[in-house]
Amino acid sequence: MRWKGRQQSRHVEDRRGQAMTSGRGRRAGSGMLNILLMGFLRASPKTRIIMVVVAAIAFLFFRGPLLEILGFSSGGSVPVQQTQTGAAPNDEMEAYLSTMMGDNERIWPPLLQRFDIPYRPCQMVIYTGRTQTPGGIADARSGPFYSPGDETIYIDPTFFDELKQRFGATGDFAEAYVVAHEYAHHIQNLMGRLDELHKLRGRLPTAEYNKRSVRVELHADFLAGMFAKTADSTFGSFLESGDIEEAMRCAAAIGDDRIQSQFGSGRIKPESFTHGTSEQRAKWFKLGFSTGDLRVGEKLYTAAYEDL
Ligand SMILES: [Zn+2]
Repeated sequence: MRWKGRQQSRHVEDRRGQAMTSGRGRRAGSGMLNILLMGFLRASPKTRIIMVVVAAIAFLFFRGPLLEILGFSSGGSVPVQQTQTGAAPNDEMEAYLSTMMGDNERIWPPLLQRFDIPYRPCQMVIYTGRTQTPGGIADARSGPFYSPGDETIYIDPTFFDELKQRFGATGDFAEAYVVAHEYAHHIQNLMGRLDELHKLRGRLPTAEYNKRSVRVELHADFLAGMFAKTADSTFGSFLESGDIEEAMRCAAAIGDDRIQSQFGSGRIKPESFTHGTSEQRAKWFKLGFSTGDLRVGEKLYTAAYEDL
């Protein structure tokens, strides 16, 4: 696919190379501060004066390390990014992901406007290793995901290497598909679909809830197909031959049945599917691409499960 030279998104934060703030470090630090405060309050007036003088001198000479011990520095027990591990690489991956985000930001507002769905942009955090999200800590096992709490896509680009090595899904359009699928979850959030699903959690038996979750995931694949179709007609030279096949292979490669047979016990358990089978994912992506019509996707929510 062609991507260079288009407008990049301003909603991308690159956290690669950044050490994660350590909760343990912070707690230990404030504990130390409490002990010092208690000591100060219990001391005699004379000792208090000596403590203040010693603290002032210590602060003058050892400001940095002291703040860290007391828990005031953002790094806690882990070194702070700027001084120790260096800034995030401003590389082709960031440019590519920012362009994909920019593409989604241009495609979706007019499509949603037709149905009176208010649009607001989604954020993206690029990270490696571990990073803090509203729902807890994300790491390499998380895979790319959308967090409705802060309307942010979290993505560790090493996932793309895994796509290639483990699933044989190659090509930059496979990566565009992954971003489009995650952005689609943001669109579903704006449409109220994620709220609907969230409310059913815990109310429905797990197998039934998983079936609803499959619909939401297939709908995201449908929206990703719509994005590809609209981007191609909007940007003129977006898709190259073979791109759609790349996305379809990728959609097929990360279907639940494939993932389960590669990573699980080898036995495929349809009741635990939360993303749909490879065949279903490719089918709905293709339907989004061929129709480009938001209303067609609504069929997913009313169709019989067998027809998905
Ligand atoms: Zn998804």
